[in-house]
Amino acid sequence: MNWGLIGASTIASEHMIGAIRSNSGHDVVSVLSSSPTRGKEYAAKHGIAASTTSLSDILNGSDVDAVYISTTNEKHLPQAMAAIAAGKHVLCEKPLAMTVADAATMVRAAQGSDVVLATNHHLRNAGSHLAIRNLITTGRLGEVLSIRIFHAVMLPEHLRGWRIDNPLAGGGVIPDIVVHDADTVRFYLGEDPADIVAQELSGAMGVDVEDSVMSVWTTPSGITVQTHESFTHPFAGSGIEVHGSKGSVIARNVMTQQPVGDILLRTASGEESIEYSPHNLYERSVSKFATAVAGDGQPAATGVDGLKSLAVAEAVKKAAVTGQRTTVDYGGY
Ligand code: NDP
Repeated sequence: MNWGLIGASTIASEHMIGAIRSNSGHDVVSVLSSSPTRGKEYAAKHGIAASTTSLSDILNGSDVDAVYISTTNEKHLPQAMAAIAAGKHVLCEKPLAMTVADAATMVRAAQGSDVVLATNHHLRNAGSHLAIRNLITTGRLGEVLSIRIFHAVMLPEHLRGWRIDNPLAGGGVIPDIVVHDADTVRFYLGEDPADIVAQELSGAMGVDVEDSVMSVWTTPSGITVQTHESFTHPFAGSGIEVHGSKGSVIARNVMTQQPVGDILLRTASGEESIEYSPHNLYERSVSKFATAVAGDGQPAATGVDGLKSLAVAEAVKKAAVTGQRTTVDYGGY
């Protein structure tokens, strides 16, 4: 499968180009950048044959089967719509779009065509999260009562661009990190958060966008979820806890791009360390996408999954801004 990169981005450079090429028979053949100079330099640095500033160059080329969209968030909608119209399979970065309505437009377009639309939610590809989900679905925790998510990190300096000062590009910690936590909760529980209360802060790092948020969600079956996302916490570390009637999972350092972290299961029998597969998260995302393109099953996270994680983030934002308990609007999905 030949891939075109839409966006000369950091995430493609740090993770996705390698993840694509690690899958046998996959290569990156072209990259789109708005800057001819940066595009050429990016292509040379990563051994990509072609760079272009024209989306139609990539989409009209018969050598490209799929595109990976990792531009800033406001560009995901028009670029994905053009790619779907051109018959290219689309693996799009999170958040899938700027609004649930836009995400629904993308999902509908893909459903009306022969292409696969997927969202690059990496966490559900992690061995750690697959192992925790397995503990839940096999009943080791009993009835799940609550989840606590610790995702307050220090945004690395090289990522402190549009994320911290440009709401029009989709900046802010809610579109950046809450979507991942929403996807992880949905992946664990197989149900969609329903109601949300939240408070946000900005100013320590964010300008015109929030840089910290805490929220509490409830699910239709009565599970409560407490989350904390931030760009400004140098020493907090990440983690997730799932508490059930028969056991609790305490996982640390697992809300990350690397296959790392510790999982502890605590039950009436004592404490047990849970082992998991240390595979690369992004390689698995590409592999599942390729299998879906070949007609076998679904990608790890579908377009609808991306829409739903965005719907939760949208509700967190609305709850924080209004101070009102907010029902998540999944746009009919
Ligand atoms: P970047 O800021 O690195 O890239 C986004 C765009 O910014 C690029 O498409 C590029 O535009 C432009 N750009 C990049 N470097 C420069 C530069 N030096 N000077 C000027 N412009 C530049 O964003 P990220 O890679 O951090 O994020 C991209 C997308 O991926 C976002 O949607 C984000 O939410 C998502 N993401 C997902 C992650 C995951 O694990 N799933 C992790 C990180 C990000 P052009 O293409 O026009 O050259």
